[in-house]
Amino acid sequence: MRRNWSGTVDFPQDLLLPTSVAEVQGLVRTQEHALAVGSAHSFSPAAVGPGPHIGTERLPAQIDVAPDRSSVVVSAGTRYADLGPVLHSHGLALSAMASLPHISVGGAIATGTHGSGDRIGTLSSAVRGLEVVTADGEVRWIRRDIDSDFAGWVVALGALGVVTRIELSVEPTYDVAQTVLLGLDLDVVERDFDAVFSAATSVSVFTRWRPEPDAQLWLKRRVDREGAWAGSPDFGARQSGGKVHPLEELDPVHCTEQGGHEGPWYERLPHFRAEFTPSSGDEIQAEYLLPRSHAVEGIRRMRSMASMITPLLHVTEIRTMCADDLWLSPAQGRDTVGIHFTWQKDRRIFSVLPAIEEALLPLGARPHWGKVTVAAPERIVEAYPLFPSFARLVEAVDPQGKFRSDNVASLLRA
Ligand SMILES: Cc1cc2nc3c(=O)[nH]c(=O)nc-3n(C[C@H](O)[C@H](O)[C@H](O)COP(=O)(O)OP(=O)(O)OC[C@H]3O[C@@H](n4cnc5c(N)ncnc54)[C@H](O)[C@@H]3O)c2cc1C
Repeated sequence: MRRNWSGTVDFPQDLLLPTSVAEVQGLVRTQEHALAVGSAHSFSPAAVGPGPHIGTERLPAQIDVAPDRSSVVVSAGTRYADLGPVLHSHGLALSAMASLPHISVGGAIATGTHGSGDRIGTLSSAVRGLEVVTADGEVRWIRRDIDSDFAGWVVALGALGVVTRIELSVEPTYDVAQTVLLGLDLDVVERDFDAVFSAATSVSVFTRWRPEPDAQLWLKRRVDREGAWAGSPDFGARQSGGKVHPLEELDPVHCTEQGGHEGPWYERLPHFRAEFTPSSGDEIQAEYLLPRSHAVEGIRRMRSMASMITPLLHVTEIRTMCADDLWLSPAQGRDTVGIHFTWQKDRRIFSVLPAIEEALLPLGARPHWGKVTVAAPERIVEAYPLFPSFARLVEAVDPQGKFRSDNVASLLRA
């Protein structure tokens, strides 16, 4: 049976692989139910539904640069790993990448996927327009500068149709230098949160919540804006002697270049190299996106629960992103901080998640759409204040529920 990347979600449905937008239209017209699927990296059952999967990977690989070079149109099945070098060869860049570049653009933007950076938005926030095959089999372009409900269409969990092409904002290409510091104390992160996360264009803190100063500080500096790292402030941490993996005992061979060596954005913003293609992963991920104003309290609460978290955890990553206006974006309406957990693949995590969610959801945390949560649908809907607008859009665009995953159906009933 087909499964998601981590092997934790079964896909009993057929996989249809159209090779043109016209073929997608034909499939949509003949199916009672269907659901788009990207690279199937989600840990949540976002891509589970009653009809067949419509995969986007065989749609024509198209990357068209706009005449004014401020945007590109890409096929939804394009993986960021393939997009990065092509954009760079045109002298262009994205502002953000996720930790792993193997995910599809269509799947990433449909779930509000993000990287890190105080002044960097989610990957979804780069979208200017979408070509969508809707439930009647028609093709529509939805554009930020034209459609008043555009903000509902981007992070849409497949519920509005099959996105076939995406227009993304781009900028002139740039280099990034990545430096990793070890032995960071979470007391310092709590005390100097803003200073730590503004120390570079893109900052990640990795921790296993152990009592000793066990955190890693990953600084990704845009060379054109910030230059290479001058060695301070180091927040009391020490520069690593060589390349390191977020799990220090693991071989860092698959990590992107560190040590302050400058290189193109697409080879530094992700933590993991594109050439390494993991077909499956021995992990389960969960993430909670908090209003930045409550991030330090969220960290405090997680530290107080370390004895239940650490034994089942591979690693936690803390990242920032700036606010956007997309209705189901984790960063909608507020600067946001993600507290992420890469868990061991162990069912016992599902007895720890309720306590974590009891601690974080009251702080305004939103569960990541592509990762696991044990929150009841009513609580998820409550965490996304513009969900009612999204629900009205879904009812208007797909009243028969052709594209309704089991997950979205349960949220609409909540
Ligand atoms: C190792 C790993 C690292 C990760 N790192 C990050 C990270 O750094 N930051 C982060 O935020 N998340 C991260 N994630 C989560 C990941 O970004 C999301 O799960 C994302 O949705 C994966 O994209 P995908 O193409 O695999 O989507 P899928 O899992 O295939 O689909 C996800 C959802 O998108 C919909 N969808 C997919 N394609 C389309 C389309 N063309 N049209 C309409 N709807 C569509 C599907 O119906 C489904 O609802 C990571 C996941 C893994 C496995």
